[in-house]
Amino acid sequence: MTVTDAAAVPVQGEPDERGSATARAAHEGILRRQSARESAARTYARALPIVPVRARGLTIEGADGRRYLDCLSGAGTLALGHNHPVVLEAIRKVLDSGAPLHVLDLATPVKDAFTTELFRTLPAGFADRARVQFCGPAGTDAVEAALKLVRLATGRSGVLAFTGAYHGMTAGALEVSGGATDVRVTRLPYPQDYRCPFGVGKERGAELAATWTESLLDDAKSGVPLPAAMILEPVQGEGGVHPAPDAWLRRMRQITEARSIPLIVDEVQTGVGRTGRFWAVEHSGVEPDVMVLSKAIGGSLPLAVIVYREDLDVWQPGAHAGTFRGNQLAMAAGAATLAHVRENGLAERAATLGARMMDRLRALAAEFPCIGDVRGRGLMMGIELVDPEAAPEAEPGTESRRAPASDHERAGPHPAAPGLAAAVQRECLRRGLIVELGGRHAGVVRLLPPLTISDEQTNAVLDRLADAVAAVARGPVRP
Ligand code: PMP
Repeated sequence: MTVTDAAAVPVQGEPDERGSATARAAHEGILRRQSARESAARTYARALPIVPVRARGLTIEGADGRRYLDCLSGAGTLALGHNHPVVLEAIRKVLDSGAPLHVLDLATPVKDAFTTELFRTLPAGFADRARVQFCGPAGTDAVEAALKLVRLATGRSGVLAFTGAYHGMTAGALEVSGGATDVRVTRLPYPQDYRCPFGVGKERGAELAATWTESLLDDAKSGVPLPAAMILEPVQGEGGVHPAPDAWLRRMRQITEARSIPLIVDEVQTGVGRTGRFWAVEHSGVEPDVMVLSKAIGGSLPLAVIVYREDLDVWQPGAHAGTFRGNQLAMAAGAATLAHVRENGLAERAATLGARMMDRLRALAAEFPCIGDVRGRGLMMGIELVDPEAAPEAEPGTESRRAPASDHERAGPHPAAPGLAAAVQRECLRRGLIVELGGRHAGVVRLLPPLTISDEQTNAVLDRLADAVAAVARGPVRP
């Protein structure tokens, strides 16, 4: 049996009305065994107690027979949704061809085709002088590889990274993620309008953030030695959906270029059309020195690479090795995904659809005071839940005796409401909609639908979300 397309999926009823008794018992047994046997570190499984058994496009079907619209998309991995026909066909073709599935880092026709397609999509000037390294299955592996490469290439060890950043869970990637306190990493303010660290937001906030970055690098007594790199996300995803202003990104490029600091752009989540351009750096025209890529490039299977300026390629043979760098199925699925997004203008579609969805989310925010902010770029969107009853938080700098410089300063955002965000996620799930949570205080409900989502499906997603927000706003929320 295949899962039908999600547009036809009815809104779900209450849990006890769903599925047959046997299916529900099987579903509950699997969940019970999971919680008894798996690590306490499991994450998504806690907020989303579902047991996917079939999936197609936007739709997932659980073992209990329930269907869900999936706006988590494997944490932004599924550019084409689940089991897209071109992806399945590419995988089957490799399987049926008798090609070896494990090849270490040997050359194969499948890898050759993937690399050709990848270079075809990269910003032209960058691709002309780039090298690719297949570094391992996950995004965090690519971050490690990038950091190791620039440290060797520059002979320096420090790295500039940003507040709210998320780059992965291995040691080096954790160092550069927000919340870490490694001495080799200098933390710089990432521009954000809603909770601007300077209390001003918008262009002025981004300008101050850039000035701070520049002054740290140029002040001989700042305590920040010339670093090996700057690493940033063009849109912070896990940090709560903060798109970097294009002008700020260009300024980061100028600042790093002028001081021979390699700029690493982490496009693990923003890549492959998600933000409305094939790569998010294209919005600003910035050409990075290193791009870190994973998630969607594997077409739902694990694949990660770094692509970098060829003069940074100082590695000796074997300097960065690993057993699992040749996933043929992922390369085939990835090449098919990249080509499908490119040939069908899905980045442009993400831009148009994202703008429309954002309009509706803003209308929702106008209706419900518990939505403090709506942010996004393309099909990477977030709504920040706040406690509208609590007094707005004084922002840094606003307690001073001077008069507030803007309305933003005067009002200030209400405190984040992670409890409400979790309640919205739960109410969404009850209505058959899967959404992600993120942000500094897990107060942001995130939407990462596949780029293939139809207009009708978009409306279904937004209707369910609006309904869930209304239920939570009406409160009291159910646990
Ligand atoms: N960088 C960014 C920007 C990410 O969003 C993520 C994952 N959410 C990673 C790196 C790490 O990727 P992975 O989970 O595959 O290690």
